[in-house]
Amino acid sequence: KKITIAIDGFSSTGKSTLAKQLARTLGYVYVDTGAMYRSVTYFAMQQGLISREHFDKLSLIERLSEISLQFLFNPNLGYAEIYLNEVNVEAEIRTLDVSNLVSRVAEVSEVRARLVEQQKHMGDHKAIVMDGRDIGTVVFPDAELKLFMTASPETRAQRRFEELTAKGQQVTYDEVLKNVQERDYIDSHREDSPLVKADDAIEIDNSHLTIEEQFEKVMLLVQE
Ligand code: C5P
Repeated sequence: KKITIAIDGFSSTGKSTLAKQLARTLGYVYVDTGAMYRSVTYFAMQQGLISREHFDKLSLIERLSEISLQFLFNPNLGYAEIYLNEVNVEAEIRTLDVSNLVSRVAEVSEVRARLVEQQKHMGDHKAIVMDGRDIGTVVFPDAELKLFMTASPETRAQRRFEELTAKGQQVTYDEVLKNVQERDYIDSHREDSPLVKADDAIEIDNSHLTIEEQFEKVMLLVQE
């Protein structure tokens, strides 16, 4: 039986690592909704609509129709990569600059409405693993399996720091920790669809679990 799997949680809790592994094993589609919010943010940065100092929300809302997002499966990687107006932006959207602005863009209701609508359509045929902040609460409230991932901020910052430096980005652990904490705060305090655990989601604290341990735990839930 094909199901819908919704994975939510704070930043850098290993949602995408788990989601990719589940999708690969089950032969499901994996959708990274954070990449969609990041791509809209990257578009806004390129168009000069947002920076550390200013945010022209109204212009972004007006220009949302200029943004086309697509996921294309990359067989070499085994998962789909995101394209913003036909350009692969996987590398561009993972920088700390984008991370520092994305939660402000994700607060905008018009942005959320547009992306949520696209996400709902992607789940029309089930057999999907989607990760984000509002998947179990807003996008797929009827998902058969909902997971809510947590880990201490320090564990998460350390993981994200290692990821970014491995990609050659010049960042400090303190900067990454600050970003993780800021995004947690904005994401869980915004008015529209704040990050909360769905009542029927299963919480997984992976501070002290290896990726394999966590994966085995979740596969048991899938098979139930
Ligand atoms: O998952 P990731 O860390 O890439 O998400 C980046 C940001 O996008 C989050 O911090 C959050 O502000 C926003 N987001 C969201 N709703 C989602 C996915 C991501 O608000 N479903």
